[in-house]
Order: sequence, then C-alpha cells, then structure tokens
Amino acid sequence: MTDTPTYGFDTLQIHAGARPDPATGARQVPIYQTTAYVFRDADHAAALFNLQEVGYIYSRLTNPTVSALAERIAALEGGAGAVCCSSGHAAQIMALFPLMGPGCNVVASTRLYGGTMQQFANTIRKFGWSAKFVDFDDLAALEAAVDGDTRAIFCESIANPGGYITDIPAVAKVADKVGLPLIVDNTSATPYLCRPIELGATLVVHSTTKYLTGNGTVTGGCIVDSGKFDWSASDKFPSLSAPEPAYHGLKFHEALGGMAFTFHSIAIGLRDLGMTMNPQAAHYTLMGIETLSLRMARHVENARAVAKWLEADPRVEAVTYAGLESSPYYGRIARVCPKGAGALFTVAVKGGYAACVKLVDSLQLFSHVANLGDTRSLIIHPASTTHRQLPEDRQIAAGAGPNIVRLSIGIEDPADIIADLDQALDKATA
Ligand SMILES: *Cc1c(COP(=O)(O)O)cnc(C)c1O
Repeated sequence: MTDTPTYGFDTLQIHAGARPDPATGARQVPIYQTTAYVFRDADHAAALFNLQEVGYIYSRLTNPTVSALAERIAALEGGAGAVCCSSGHAAQIMALFPLMGPGCNVVASTRLYGGTMQQFANTIRKFGWSAKFVDFDDLAALEAAVDGDTRAIFCESIANPGGYITDIPAVAKVADKVGLPLIVDNTSATPYLCRPIELGATLVVHSTTKYLTGNGTVTGGCIVDSGKFDWSASDKFPSLSAPEPAYHGLKFHEALGGMAFTFHSIAIGLRDLGMTMNPQAAHYTLMGIETLSLRMARHVENARAVAKWLEADPRVEAVTYAGLESSPYYGRIARVCPKGAGALFTVAVKGGYAACVKLVDSLQLFSHVANLGDTRSLIIHPASTTHRQLPEDRQIAAGAGPNIVRLSIGIEDPADIIADLDQALDKATA
C-alpha cells in the first residue's frame, strides 16, 4: 500500500497515495482523464488480465487518480487495501457483494442512515438478499439474530442521525465469536475521530460525499478492507475462498491473501457492477481530505458549543449529541471515537412537526439540504424528507420522529451559528 506507513495522520492525509507524477513531476495528483491505458505488449496485457502484474487496463476498473485516493483512505483507516466507487450507497452494495448470495442475510443495526435502511429493507431483496434489524446495544439479541445464512454484521460508528455511538469493540467480539465479518460505516465519524479496524472491524465503508470531501461538491464512496479476515475459515464465502467462476476459477484468498477482498471488488465488483468513481470526483475528494483533521477538530468544537447552548434552551425538549455529558453514549467516546463525537446531532423541538418545519424555513445561515458533513451548517427535518417513507414507529426507532430536526454543524463562527438558531427558534415556537 502506501510507501509512507510510519507517518502520522496529519501527514498521511496529505501524502499517502501521492507521489510526484512519473511523467511530468507534477506535485499534485494529476486528473488522469482517460478511459484506457496502452499495454506495453501482448505479454504485459495478459499479465494484467491475470492479476499477475498490477497496472491499469480500463477506468471502469482502476484509474491512477482514483487509486491515489483509495490508497490515501486505506492509509488513514489503517487498512490493507481500499476501493473507491461512485457513492456511499454503491460502497455498501460493493461491500456486501463478495460476501452474499441468494438467500443470505446481513444483520444490521436499527440505527442507520435513512437511505441505508431503505436499501437494506427493500432494495437488496431484488438480489435475494435480506437484512435483519437489531438493537446493537442488546448484544444477546445481536448474536441470536445471526443464523446459518448470515454473511455480515453491519453498523455505523457514529450513527446518523441520532447521536448514537456503536460499541464497536463489543460488537466486534460478537462478530468474531460467530465467525462473520463486521462492516462499519464510518461516514459520520471519519478515520480522524474513529478507527473501526483498530476496534475489530473487518471492512469500513464510507460515503466520501460527506466529511472526506468536506465541502459538498461530489458524491463518492469507498470500501476499506482490514486484510485480516480469514475468508477460508468456513465455506460461507465461496467467492473469496473457492474457485471463482466469474474470474476463470481464481481462488482469490489463496492467491492474494489479505488483498483478496480488494482485488475481488475491483476485478469482479467494479468490472461487472460498474459503480465506478470518476477521476474528477477523486480529485475533489483528494483536495478535501488534505484538511480532514483540521476540519473535523473544528466541526467537533462547534458542535459541542451549539449542542450545549441548545440543551440549555427552554424552546428545546432534548438534544441527542453523544458529546454532551447527559448522553447515555457519552461514556463510549473515549473507547470508540476519542477525538470527539462528530458534528451531527438531532434536536427535539417543542411544538412538534409544525415547529420543525417553521424552524427549517426560518433559518438564514443554515442550508436546508439532504446532505451532511459540509463546511456549511446544514439542517433537515427527517420525518418530512429522508425518513418520510418509513412508518412512524421505524422513524422513532431510527431517532427521526416528527418533532426531530437533524443538524450538521459546519466550521463557521460558532456565535453566528447560534445566533441563527436563536432567531429561528423564536419564530418556530412563537
Ligand atoms: C450519505 C450517507 C450514505 C450514502 O452515501 P451517498 O454518497 O449519498 O450514496 C451512507 N451512510 C451514511 C452514514 C451517510 O451519511
């Protein structure tokens, strides 16, 4: 992977995966705007197609700009390899794809991004896959939900939107006991705040659309593999352990060891599903990720200040931010995300649905958008937007009931963020 493995996080976020361009000496990673790459000769082409030599064939599979970003995210997460793809949702499908087959299921946390709930509850059924949703605070229920057809356990580190922190070390212990890979969506935390692989995760998925890019410019996703899971320990993962018919009978785990998942995701996942990140998107994310640690530290500092102010305000019923001492998940910060609980939280506003809608419409600095993890402060009312297709009991279970707004606190001047909320709460609760 990276040729700078001993550097610290702040150095890796700038240098990992990037070296001066061999053709021109360009210091920044060039945008390799090309679909194909000329083979040196017929033997070279054959070696590339046999995975005997690593190189570029066609940009649906790999592209130097996209590979630089994958290498950087792998370095930041402490993984063996990574694959970038077209969105966070693509990353989730791509992560499950080598593990699942018709009739298989994933055991997933009840506390997930609304779009992921939708993808898991309904859309993956078209592939013959299914999801079982469990409260991951109930470790016995988690273990009991695993059956002979379960192929993965899935959760978010800091769960969107309810200010919930998953006890990743405890969940990883269950995954280990039942011999299944643990997939952690680390979008809301980023590797600056949380390092799921060090806590026992097998795979980490990201929506790079959010904090990794940081400024709301491009959609993208990434899957990082720890390289540590023994895919051959059972017969549950034939795509990785048995001869793979989709790749002339190659046994990926035997041939590629800790890089088996990464190579499978490129050679078959990207080749046949085509959920590829384009080099322009990779460029924007490479630019954003250079300042990840600086932004995340400020996001956390601002979020704490805003959450504390809101918690003390009589117009507010509750603030679910794990960074507040009042949160039941406050005690998990030191173990799971020692640099802070992120910058996403929900607020229960007095006056319910109507007050929430009025609040959203009265804010001036905040943007009302279906996004998070921007330098700008953002707000959304999940019950009327991202979570509106879920029944109300599932909205409430996901921390997105009718009286809830979700804030994504930006890196503006915190006094301005608070002043905007103050004037809008006046109008909303008048
Ligand atoms: C946004 C998001 C996703 C989906 O990512 P897209 O890039 O929008 O496809 C998945 N998980 C979490 C936690 C997210 O915030």
